[in-house]
Amino acid sequence: MSDFTKVAFIGSECYPFIKTGGLGDVMYALPRALIRQDCEVRVFMPYYKCIPEKYKKDMVYRGSFMMDLCLDGRTFYVGIMETVVDGVIYDFIDNREFFDWGNPYTGLWEDIPKYCYFSKAALAVLNYMEWIPDVIHCHDWQAGLVPVYLRTRFADTPVGRARTVLTIHNLRFQGICGIPHMKYWTGLPDYLFDYPVFKQNDDDANMFKAGLAYADRITTVSATYAQEIQTTFFGEGLNDHLSYHSTKLKGIVNGIDVEQWDPARDSLLPERYDASSAIAQKKADKRALQEKLGLEVDENKYVIGLISRLTDQKGLDLVNAIFQDMLDDNTQVVILGTGDPRYEGSFRYYESVNKGKVCAYIQYNEALAHQIYAGSDALLVPSLFEPCGLTQLIAMRYGTVPIVRETGGLKDTVKAYNPETNEGNGFTFVDYMTSELLGAIDRSKDLYFNDRGRWDEMVLRDMAKDVSWENSAKQYLDLYHELKNA
Ligand code: ADP
Repeated sequence: MSDFTKVAFIGSECYPFIKTGGLGDVMYALPRALIRQDCEVRVFMPYYKCIPEKYKKDMVYRGSFMMDLCLDGRTFYVGIMETVVDGVIYDFIDNREFFDWGNPYTGLWEDIPKYCYFSKAALAVLNYMEWIPDVIHCHDWQAGLVPVYLRTRFADTPVGRARTVLTIHNLRFQGICGIPHMKYWTGLPDYLFDYPVFKQNDDDANMFKAGLAYADRITTVSATYAQEIQTTFFGEGLNDHLSYHSTKLKGIVNGIDVEQWDPARDSLLPERYDASSAIAQKKADKRALQEKLGLEVDENKYVIGLISRLTDQKGLDLVNAIFQDMLDDNTQVVILGTGDPRYEGSFRYYESVNKGKVCAYIQYNEALAHQIYAGSDALLVPSLFEPCGLTQLIAMRYGTVPIVRETGGLKDTVKAYNPETNEGNGFTFVDYMTSELLGAIDRSKDLYFNDRGRWDEMVLRDMAKDVSWENSAKQYLDLYHELKNA
């Protein structure tokens, strides 16, 4: 059998078309890394109304058909819009009824029908286009039904011979609703709603759970998270299910696209830099950031950045509790994020009482994110749980020292600084406690203010660390080969 492997990526978001978090980054970067390793990759995602016009105008219509979906056999339009970027083919599934909302995710009541449709339509499109992949790589609950449809409704169709991988990017989101609603929209037979496929409890059905049961392989985005999700605390109710399926579960850590995230070529930065110029140029980026955000402009201040969805997952209760304590006359804090109103409100408050020292930028802003990665000294990621986390990887690539809690991918990617040996990439803490977080921040400040030589060495070590997709893409490729040759 040839080593040339055909892979279909199916997921609900993909940078640059639409991105709300790390899933969008992975859907962009991993296919690009795979095509460099002799894969042919097509990415399937919804044709959301909110995809910017500048991308839509380059898409071409590839055909359309009608597809049945629900229990009563209602039929829906499936259109295919296509574009090719750097060798990766992107096929967008078009249906105005489902994808004309302002945001990709609007609430489970609407999202469940939307992603039932999407999962089934993606398989129907593969048959329609007569492009039959060796492996279908599905991402998160929104594509969770793909393995289920593949082994049921599509088993005797051409695409039925493909194998499936389902990646868990975040187990917290699962696609759960009442059994009648799920039965109606999936149109799948009753026996699937008995334990242990869809059935969550006597009343509810779970799309992700069904996908995990039917996928040939399950991956998640770090080795530590692969272990954690088999425990009650991290398992979000699926720990037993995942333990049961653990022989097909594997952790493969995410990387980042090192061309997309490259301080030497980043057109969004006031000053670009590589390892030889980082120590000086980062100061210039810091001053530009301070000026832009209304902070006191002084390159000697210690600037701590935080770029995040504002949700309890990200450890923001800890941050709130120690906010005033982490500030001092030589420390500034910059927050970029949107989300839970209680965090948006508290961070706005801390900005208002610490004018010139704190900026809470409550927005999703790609350009500012780049400028914060470059202009900060440290990046805070104190998550309660973190499947992989990309911000700490991007920070290291930009020579910004991560301060992280040792959970999930944060544990797997940031080696704690060891003052004895002068090794490590950042500052870490283990227990989810305010004193632990504050301790890690204080240790970082101590090094920054009292031993700048060693701090700068860590900056350069972080920039030199391999955070690319190359190794991990290779592991996915091995997995695809294993499935293809089984
Ligand atoms: P998650 O997927 O849980 O949100 P990750 O760390 O895996 O977290 O990925 C977050 C991605 O989203 C990173 O690329 C980060 O830079 C980006 N991001 C998060 N919040 C914002 C924001 N407010 N503005 C711009 N980019 C953001």
